[in-house]
Amino acid sequence: MGKNYFDKCRLCQNDKKLCFSHIIPEFLFLPIYDEKHRASMIPRGKTRYEQKGIREYLLCGDCEQIISMWETYVSPIIKSIQDLDITRLGDQYIISDVQYANFKLFQLSML
Ligand SMILES: [Zn+2]
Repeated sequence: MGKNYFDKCRLCQNDKKLCFSHIIPEFLFLPIYDEKHRASMIPRGKTRYEQKGIREYLLCGDCEQIISMWETYVSPIIKSIQDLDITRLGDQYIISDVQYANFKLFQLSML
């Protein structure tokens, strides 16, 4: 795969130059990285290390930009989840000052 990879964007379905997109946002891999910012992969013979999450040519620049807006919103909240004001109400949890729609769109974008 070269630097200019053209194909059908998996979101808008237009034939465009595709970005080397993360399948799962990079910030969600942070807890599994070691001190050298690498994660060991499940060995298939020999142990292998990865320093970035799994990526593929998936989205065009426009779609990547839309999804990155939700990721930009969610990432700092997830990283400081221990500081959130969470109230338990029966079997539900209420989290103040978080925009539900942005969170839901972020989760849907990974599907
Ligand atoms: Zn697109």
